[in-house]
Amino acid sequence: MSASRDFPDRVGGRLCLDFVNTVDPRQVGRGRDYLVSYGDVLDWFEMVDVRLPRSISWLRKRAKSATDEAFGAHRQAVAMREAAFALLNSSRVSGEVRPSDVAKLNDALGESIGHRVLAAAQRGGVREEWRTADALTQVLWPVAIDTWDLLTEPELGLVRQCPPDAGGCGWLFLDTSRAGNRRWCDMRTCGNRAKVRAHYSRTARR
Ligand SMILES: [Zn+2]
Repeated sequence: MSASRDFPDRVGGRLCLDFVNTVDPRQVGRGRDYLVSYGDVLDWFEMVDVRLPRSISWLRKRAKSATDEAFGAHRQAVAMREAAFALLNSSRVSGEVRPSDVAKLNDALGESIGHRVLAAAQRGGVREEWRTADALTQVLWPVAIDTWDLLTEPELGLVRQCPPDAGGCGWLFLDTSRAGNRRWCDMRTCGNRAKVRAHYSRTARR
């Protein structure tokens, strides 16, 4: 399966936002989930090209022989994604968060931080790398750390949601526009649909 399959466009501007945007749209019970198996999760992380303790092809091979572990890793990926979405979406407006979501993110974080180390870089100084690990859940480690970072950085104030109540998809993205007024995940999709709807409702009233 190729890694460039029909995954949603990466419009989030951060790894963790693109990860939570793998459900489209984000309205309850209506969205298409792009990560329905561990294989999908691997394909997605292969597309975004993050550094992991093991290569994606190594993990793919291991998942074939460790099917129960792969099943569990997929379940954990979805649970962490949904917790990350809820936390980011509430926290961006200083809303209340569910302790169960915090706990789910903390589980993934504990695993990932335990495997993050500093090593001497060839050109001097240090660089970050991963301790060797075989766990199939390791694909979640970079995204868990990125979620933690964003939740505790001032950049959290730039996170917006493509407005579900105005026909948007509910995705989260970083508004880095100079005017700080980006409304849609993408003008070509949600922005355009809203424009067309506005046009029809105007002409219908005439
Ligand atoms: Zn949208």
